[in-house]
Amino acid sequence: MQKMWGVWKLIYPIIGMSGIIPVNMEPRLLSELGLKPDTPVVCQLSNRPELTYIIESPLTKLDDLITHIRNIAQDHIIQPLDRTLVFVTTIMNGELIARNLGCEFYCADTSVYVSKGNRRLMNESTCHRIAAEQCKRIIDNWQTGRYRIMVAMTAFGAGNNYPGVWVVILANTPFNMASIVQQFGRAGRDGNQASCYIIPSKCLLYQPGEQSVDFCEHSAVTEMIWDSTKCIQFLLTKYVDGREATACLEDTKNMICS
Ligand SMILES: [Zn+2]
Repeated sequence: MQKMWGVWKLIYPIIGMSGIIPVNMEPRLLSELGLKPDTPVVCQLSNRPELTYIIESPLTKLDDLITHIRNIAQDHIIQPLDRTLVFVTTIMNGELIARNLGCEFYCADTSVYVSKGNRRLMNESTCHRIAAEQCKRIIDNWQTGRYRIMVAMTAFGAGNNYPGVWVVILANTPFNMASIVQQFGRAGRDGNQASCYIIPSKCLLYQPGEQSVDFCEHSAVTEMIWDSTKCIQFLLTKYVDGREATACLEDTKNMICS
């Protein structure tokens, strides 16, 4: 792994760009792209010192979850431009939580916007156009402040950067480290301090031997959520940066996780 400034010294005619590539995925990615194992990989460390990470006690009842999300959001939505994002793991939970919070649910799946009956009558491109229009409308409503909370699925977790997101809440137990890193990454994009919560629902234990390599780091998710002795920031940065991981107490610029 080389640091970002190293990109200026590369003499290669083609440079590929990506978001998060965990360090343990690099050899596989190079192999699948047909590149030599010693192809230079340039990256920036994933530490976000402005983010505070908080793992809450598990909540299994919907009413408790809604009340808790409302309380967290109320603490962070103060100024007109303040926004909150709530990520969920299933469409059913997304629709349920959004309805109870009185906000909208962003999901790239066409089935959320076009009923089964209508899907049969329409061609696929029409369904996708309707879904794309609805997704845009939902984001507009959130950005312009009609709804200052938005519930979203994984599709919104990557690459969508809006200022004023002071809090990101992962409602339910997330499935993998990549989703957690990406979804938390929506917070504090304007450089201001922001808070990232996980409110787990249940313990999804990783079963060793399910797959040959634990690429998604299910075991790390289990460790992070259910072992309160571990530094959350360290585990998140370890997933992306490997041996260059940073614990929150290692740098005075870091917010301290809890
Ligand atoms: Zn920590």
